Amino acid sequence: MKNVIGARCTVCGNLIEATPNITVCPRCGGIMDIEYDYDYIRAKLTPYDLMDCDDFSMWRYKAFLPVEGKSTLPKLRVGWSPFYKAGRLGEVLGLKNLYIKDDGINPTSSLKDRASAMAVVKAEEAGKSIIACSSTGNAASSLAGNAAAAGLKTYIFVPERAPKGKVAQLMMFGATVISVQGSYEDTFRLSAEAIDRWGWYNRNAAINPYLMEGKKTVALEIAEQLHFQMPDYVAISVGDGCTIAGVWKGFKDLYAAGFINKLPRLIAVQASGCCPINTAAAAHTTEWTPQPENTLADSIAVGVPRNPLKAIRAIEESNGIPVNVSDEEILAAMRLLGRTSGVFAEPAGATGTAGVKKAVEMGLIDKDASVVTVVTGNGLKDVNNAIKAAGEPISIPGEMDRLLEAFEKKGDPHR
Ligand SMILES: *Cc1c(COP(=O)(O)O)cnc(C)c1O
Repeated sequence: MKNVIGARCTVCGNLIEATPNITVCPRCGGIMDIEYDYDYIRAKLTPYDLMDCDDFSMWRYKAFLPVEGKSTLPKLRVGWSPFYKAGRLGEVLGLKNLYIKDDGINPTSSLKDRASAMAVVKAEEAGKSIIACSSTGNAASSLAGNAAAAGLKTYIFVPERAPKGKVAQLMMFGATVISVQGSYEDTFRLSAEAIDRWGWYNRNAAINPYLMEGKKTVALEIAEQLHFQMPDYVAISVGDGCTIAGVWKGFKDLYAAGFINKLPRLIAVQASGCCPINTAAAAHTTEWTPQPENTLADSIAVGVPRNPLKAIRAIEESNGIPVNVSDEEILAAMRLLGRTSGVFAEPAGATGTAGVKKAVEMGLIDKDASVVTVVTGNGLKDVNNAIKAAGEPISIPGEMDRLLEAFEKKGDPHR
């Protein structure tokens, strides 16, 4: 990998060779970060080259990614998700320049596919045929899907509370699924022990620094889809903190390679019932405290985050805004995205948008500001909460009289 200098520890600064199966710092146990040679990247790729690139997936940014020249890239099409100017949603929120990046449109319907695709490449480079992870749900289903497409086996640990849609995906993709009767923390601990014992490739969030490199491609796409004219803000929901850290890394990479001349501010959105990262970020400290996992947004119900340092630094460095939203605000944002934009988000997928709404209401962002809200996961993943947000349909026998009656009761103006 001529574009990669090595992996540097985010805690002690130790620089090591970026071999395929590195995890945490061998010296202090800190989380590693992949470091690039930006002069090399600049010579290899320019914004003009991208205009001619016919690879409409995350791999169009190979020059910015830690993949060996000879590695076979996955066949599932991950990335290059839709990017919309959200006029009607913007009107409702009072923003003139609002955009939606819909990452629910990925092969397994979440942004996690960007990390899992990278994990599959790295596992193959490392000569491993089994990959394992623990996850609140989406990392699991995306790993299972991306591994299935590459012919690799998976062992997946999920907490018992994982929504049915996500577990159904896991089973469909042929994963061996261990449903742990306990919290996400218990699940993570058991998976770590099993990975150690059997030597599987480790796709656990944060621990494996390559995953974030996959996730950063969402930022590269946002930049390119805006013709490298950067927005003022990018809003993203936060659980473990890998996604927001990845988004920030992506923008910083583009800046360092001279693709963009401005960095956006991050709007970090957590659920008020579980917001350890935002609590620390708001106090401008990296000292965080565990919290109960008290939100219906299962993908971000992370009381003990795995990547707090990178996430808090990303918020701090970007002069970001931490915003917490209630479950009711999340459900309302799901309805809003659906009704104004035809975008169906799972609770954590709509949390970024709920945060934008709240930040405008609190006067934290200007109405003229340009804002990108990232929808991180699709609503079909969690049908129970979708019904909770949107309500039940009109249920009647198949007779016109009953229909008239029902419309009368509802006062429907469209009939
Ligand atoms: C994982 C996930 C997040 C948060 O990502 P972290 O890296 O855990 O912060 C947000 N939304 C969805 C849908 C997710 O699956």
